[in-house]
This record gives sequence, C-alpha cells and structure tokens, in this order.
Amino acid sequence: MHPNTRVLILDTDLKEDLHWHCGMVEGELQRLTEWVRSNGYSRVLLQYPPGLRDAASAISLALKGIGVEVISSGSSCWGGCDVASREALTAGCEAIVHVGHAKFIDVKDVPVFYYEARYDNYGPLSELLPKLREHLTGKSRVSLGMTVQWLDFLERFVNDLKLMGLEVLTGAPGGHLVHRGQVLGCDYATMLPLDSVVDAHLVVGSVFHGLGLALIARKEVYAADPHTQRITPLSEAARRTLMRRYAQIERFKAAKRVGVVVSLKPGQRYLGLARWLRERLGARGYDAEVVVVDEVRSEELEGRYEALVNTACPRLSIEDQERFRIPLLLPGEVLVAIGELSWEELLRRGLASTYPQSWVMG
Ligand code: SF4
Repeated sequence: MHPNTRVLILDTDLKEDLHWHCGMVEGELQRLTEWVRSNGYSRVLLQYPPGLRDAASAISLALKGIGVEVISSGSSCWGGCDVASREALTAGCEAIVHVGHAKFIDVKDVPVFYYEARYDNYGPLSELLPKLREHLTGKSRVSLGMTVQWLDFLERFVNDLKLMGLEVLTGAPGGHLVHRGQVLGCDYATMLPLDSVVDAHLVVGSVFHGLGLALIARKEVYAADPHTQRITPLSEAARRTLMRRYAQIERFKAAKRVGVVVSLKPGQRYLGLARWLRERLGARGYDAEVVVVDEVRSEELEGRYEALVNTACPRLSIEDQERFRIPLLLPGEVLVAIGELSWEELLRRGLASTYPQSWVMG
C-alpha cells in the first residue's frame, strides 16, 4: 500500500504466501460483477498492486466474461489514497476497480469499487497464537488492529485471544479507516484512542503497519505478521526512527533552497498545506517553492533542492528517507526546524499521524 519499494517487496511476499496460505473471498468477485452489471459499465480501469496480480487476473477474466472491456493501470497502486482517476478519465473508463485497499477518501470524478481482496484462510492467524501468548505474557488488556485483508477474521481472532486470558479492545472506524479494527500505515484512529487504557497494542500486518503506531503510542506495539509468522516488538525500532528524524531536522536547518512537495494522488493532495508551509519557510528566510509531482522520486528532486518537505504519504519520510540524500521533512518536523514547535510537542501530537494539516496550520 505504499509509495516505496519496500512495499513492492512485501507485496511479492504476499503473493507467494497467498499460493499456499490463503485464498480470496469468492463473494467479493460476485459483488463486483453485480456492481458493474447493475450500473451498466462497459469499460473499466483495473488498478492493482503487483503482489495481487493473480487476484487482478481473476477479476479481469470475470469482467470480460460479462462483456466488459478491461483496461489495466500500469501506474502505482500504493494505497486507497492512490486512485487512478486521471488515468480512468483519459482512457474513457466509466469506473475503476481498485484492488487491495479499502476506501480512503471520496473520489468524486469516477465511481470506484474497492476490491479489498480479503483472505479466506484463518490458518496463518491461528498459527500466530502460541507465539503471541509468549510475547503478551503479563499483559491483561490489548488493543487489536488488522490490515484490511484479515478483517473477516477480526471477531474470531479476538475470541481466540480472549481464550488466552486477554481482554481485547477494537476501535470503531475513524479518520481514513472505514472498518472497525482496521489499520493503515498512516492511520491508527481505531487504536490510538485506546492507548491510555491498554497494556499493549497488537497490529496484525507487517512491521511497516505497526511502526507508525509505535511512533505515536506510549504503550508497546507488537507487529504480528501472518505471512512471515514473526512477532516484532517495535519500541526499539521507533526509538531509532525518532533519532534519525531528529538528525534530519537538524540537517534541514542548513538548507536554503527548499521544495515543498505536493502529490497529485487524490488522497495525498495537500496543496493548501504546502502553500502555507512555503509561506512559513519564506518568512524564515528559506527560498521555498511548491513542487507538484505524481511520484515523490529522489532523482527528479535532489538536483533542484537542498531539502524537501513531504506533504504526500508520511511513510516516505519514515521508511524511505535513506533513498534521498537530502532531508525529506514531514510538515510538523518543518515547524520544529524553523523554531515554531518544540520536538517534545511534536512527539506529543504525533510525528507521523495522518496528514497533520489541521494542527500544523492551526
Ligand atoms: S498515504 Fe497512507 S494509505 Fe496512502 S500510501 Fe501512504 S500510508 Fe498508505
């Protein structure tokens, strides 16, 4: 679900694991063909991450079977934030089938079917339970979040954890999350509000999905990955990430020419925030300009600027900073760099919370 190669790797793992671990829920395909048929669409754009190519092939076949022309998007498909509406309109498609993610925002210009590609095999979750028992010894109450693919098993997993003697809390949808207990790499609205009442958080997904929460939660976060069968406590990784972010803030202070990056992806497009940050930077003597991109790539940006501000996917700064030779600061980090916010206050508000434009802009 994310704008970096790390996720391509995860997706590849996902695909391999799917062959022997998991099937996809049949009913989803039926709901899709029903949706297309009942709306009378004759040409749709199919958008999917590389790791879900097999699911996409099945979808394509099913749609062709009911006489629908399918055009594939060859662009990125990092998350529900990344809906290819411009491509669909250019290719004359009446609708988009977006595979692998839940709805993230309202896309107004083209109807979108979010084919979440949920798993139908509980096995990988059940295999995690004995290891979880070890890791969670001494904890009595935990919050639980899952990536969308596992959510059909939320209740069953909660019950199994209860059998281990744990009290398990799941949060209601909120932020960009549309399902109870759902998590994204950039949104933990189902879990963070429970931070003060639980002993630990359990994120079923990759380390990638848990780290964002570990950066903002006070309680330990465990990433339980059904594909690798690894359970990873994340407080140490979070501590190291914060140290690296602080170092980037310090480097940023020495820059003069700054690019404030705005993504064209519908769910990452924060032009107002970028313009506001440009003004703040200008007032502090930086030579800042807003730069609009489709993908945030180091090759295109590094030669032009001495530092970058990232108003697109927050995970780019967290996971992919090393791909950039220059600092790629999040909006809140910029305020620290220019002395308008303390580092401690930034941590209190949440370094990588989803699009902190509301509190950044005041
Ligand atoms: S903005 Fe959120 S949903 Fe979109 S790619 Fe980044 S982490 Fe994933």
